[in-house]
Amino acid sequence: METLHFISGTFHPGLNVTVRRGLAWSQKGLLPGETITLCVCPGGHNHTVIGQARVAFVMVAQVAGIPDELIAYEHEPSCRTKEGLLAAMSRVFGEVRSDEIMTVIGFEMDLSRASH
Ligand SMILES: [Zn+2]
Repeated sequence: METLHFISGTFHPGLNVTVRRGLAWSQKGLLPGETITLCVCPGGHNHTVIGQARVAFVMVAQVAGIPDELIAYEHEPSCRTKEGLLAAMSRVFGEVRSDEIMTVIGFEMDLSRASH
């Protein structure tokens, strides 16, 4: 099972979206319905598995080409606009341009399962 690592552990019920730089995540062969593990590890340290989620979709796009309707589901509130997303990614990677290729992963949180 693949593990998605997050620097921010903010999630909401239902569909969440994460945007990953480059094509690496598009090449893992993730399929809709597949279960993935979610790990929160700010700065890449203190990996804490917080639960599992179901893959909804995987999409490759330039930042500028990500539909606003999808970015609205970003798990991190400050990244729900392209400007906010680019600013956040640039803090992690250095300058990230709006024509860079990203892999957008949609996943359904099953928060009820965490308590069982
Ligand atoms: Zn981690």
